[in-house]
Amino acid sequence: MSPLAPPCEPKVLSVAVVAPGLGEFDYDWPPQILTERDLEVRSGDWLVVPFAKRVLLAVVIHSNKEPGDSDRFKRRQVLGRFTAIPSLTKPQIEFLTFIASYYRSSLGSVLSMVIPAWLRSSKNLLASCEPETATAKSPLQKLLQKYAADLLRQPKETGSRADPPSSVHPLLLTAEQQQAIEIATDSLGFREPCKNHAKPVYLQGVTGSGKTLVYVELIKRLWQINPEAQVLYLVPEIALTPVLKSRLLDALSLEPEALSILHSGMTDRQRASSWMQAVHGVTQLILGTRLSLMTPLPRLAMIVVDEEHDSSYKSQDSVRYSARDLAAYLASQQSLRLVMGSATPSLESLAQIEKGRYRLVRLLKQATGAPRAALVMVNLNKERMACAGVLTDTVHKAVEETLGRGRQVLFFLNRRGYAPLLSCPSCGWTQGCEHCSVSMVLHKKTRQWQMICHHCGIVKKPQPRCPSCGAAELTGQGFGIQSLEEQLAAVFPGVALTRVDSDSAGTMEKMTQMLKQLQQPKPEIILATQILAKGHDLPGLSTVVVLDVDAQLLSPEFRAPEWLFSTLLQVSGRAGRHEDQARVFLQTRYPTHPLFQGLKGDDPASYLHALLEERRQALLPPYGHIAALRMTARTELAVQDQFNRLYEALVQSKPADCQVHRPSPSYPEKRANQYRWHMVLESSRRGPLNAGLELALAIAQAQGLRDLIIDVDPLGLS
Ligand code: ADP
Ligand code: ZN
Ligand code: ZN
Repeated sequence: MSPLAPPCEPKVLSVAVVAPGLGEFDYDWPPQILTERDLEVRSGDWLVVPFAKRVLLAVVIHSNKEPGDSDRFKRRQVLGRFTAIPSLTKPQIEFLTFIASYYRSSLGSVLSMVIPAWLRSSKNLLASCEPETATAKSPLQKLLQKYAADLLRQPKETGSRADPPSSVHPLLLTAEQQQAIEIATDSLGFREPCKNHAKPVYLQGVTGSGKTLVYVELIKRLWQINPEAQVLYLVPEIALTPVLKSRLLDALSLEPEALSILHSGMTDRQRASSWMQAVHGVTQLILGTRLSLMTPLPRLAMIVVDEEHDSSYKSQDSVRYSARDLAAYLASQQSLRLVMGSATPSLESLAQIEKGRYRLVRLLKQATGAPRAALVMVNLNKERMACAGVLTDTVHKAVEETLGRGRQVLFFLNRRGYAPLLSCPSCGWTQGCEHCSVSMVLHKKTRQWQMICHHCGIVKKPQPRCPSCGAAELTGQGFGIQSLEEQLAAVFPGVALTRVDSDSAGTMEKMTQMLKQLQQPKPEIILATQILAKGHDLPGLSTVVVLDVDAQLLSPEFRAPEWLFSTLLQVSGRAGRHEDQARVFLQTRYPTHPLFQGLKGDDPASYLHALLEERRQALLPPYGHIAALRMTARTELAVQDQFNRLYEALVQSKPADCQVHRPSPSYPEKRANQYRWHMVLESSRRGPLNAGLELALAIAQAQGLRDLIIDVDPLGLS
């Protein structure tokens, strides 16, 4: 033992290392830096540790593990403390541990999502271990200094928040909004704050009903009883944050410094900076996308999950978590107030409402007082596409009439590019992607034709002639939004035409700029994909035309009807927020389909209840529980072989009450040169599903299968 050995037996620290795939490891304190303060290391404290040949951030899980549990000669020594980040509290550690165990991931993977990459770069970590010199300051030290300054400015005066600045004219709440706020106030326990009986609130409000203002009012009430509380406001998409940010600052009379924005579209450094303000409690309102749920906020008291039905809340990356589900867990674990909202509740939430776990509050009218747009089914079995091959006479007339009134028309077509296929009319050959098992999509870029793969992103020139039969003429099949644009320009010459899709509005700046222009009511035709479906208010929009939805009606995915319904309702909700002549046209061959009838009805929830009943019958989520195991390999044979071995062994060991489905190819089977397969486990109860999953993972490990992706509560079965 070293002569510098401390007088007392040093503790062994069990730490979770912040790197994907890693779990807990034991470390020793270096004897030479053992001061009394160092001995006071607690669980939740951050450390810098050596790991293999790297220097990594780690968090203490157990601070006084018995020495002797692990091999002391293998144990390495901690390099130092990392004090830039506040220590995690016990409930925070429990929450992160829960995420790792529920989604069958590692604590290291979860922590890698929690801590912004910039903060834990080895350069920053090492700099933090060295004694600070007056001359050279590391970027981290500079950042920390900035926070110290911010923190000194605390506590901020809260008085200014009570009276709104004179420049803003607050909207008068509608009667419905007022009633919603009162009920929610009761349910969230704002009247009797000492009682810990807050029940989550579910705000089901039609598009344009003014849900934002209700959230705002509830946040104000929280701050009345708890002025220091932090609020986490989740939105599904980055695109929604800039507009919402200014709305929230205005409505809550907040200084911009009191709000942190967190989403994946920021640079590492920006995110680190915003994140630091949030975790140090400098900011009070945290507006972010799904990942921001992982932020360890010191005074978090309420979570708002807007558009909770949106599938973007489910991550498709390494840890396949659902921020919506985790928000509910976190709220109950830490007694936080929870408000979820949407026009079309997810069936998971609808089931919770039915069970009485959420207090349902409804807004059935548009806040502007305008009536809902009338829905017109255009029956394609009776009416032909008279105009340009895509429009019926009915729609053509409606467009002309709307433009004549000086209003905007929105065509909704969820298909990027010019044509979904380029194929040979004589032999039927189509140009596919060499890296994926899909056709490439014909795009028009200024004056050039391009073939783009929507799965791997590769760009190619179109084949000049058919490589199969030599025919010289290849033609685009079907239509995408770019060819629709051409056709509409020909049918309505001289009319302003704006296409909004990820090709024309791919960046946040472009999108923001386009939205600004579209705010101006004028005779204009807008063509848009899904990108414009959500949240955007276009005051001049009077008519919406939904094209080509029939294909989506036939999708085999079990959540497809739920998603299509909510998309269509959202798109329809764009029309006529500020007028009473608005109409939505839907061209379809199945005008009597229950989904369309559901859209027509007064209450969107009635169709969703019918879907929920189907799920109950079929024992699908939320009544049954599923998990998918996914695997990829360079060859089809390899992935199929490995999966089949796993399947056989799993079926042999007969997991109780857990059904194991045969492995099958995912869609698309090949993506970016990787063959993708999956296998689904299903049970009517969570316990047996978990046990089955455990068994499968043990077998996979014994078989040496690596890189198995585990998808608990997957979005789909393919
Ligand atoms: P939702 O999220 O429910 O679709 P928003 O909160 O975006 O609706 O509000 C829709 C529109 O209604 C916005 O333009 C908003 O300014 C307006 N609005 C909301 N509340 C009121 C109100 N009380 N009076 C007038 N307009 C309102
Ligand atoms: Zn051919
Ligand atoms: Zn491809």
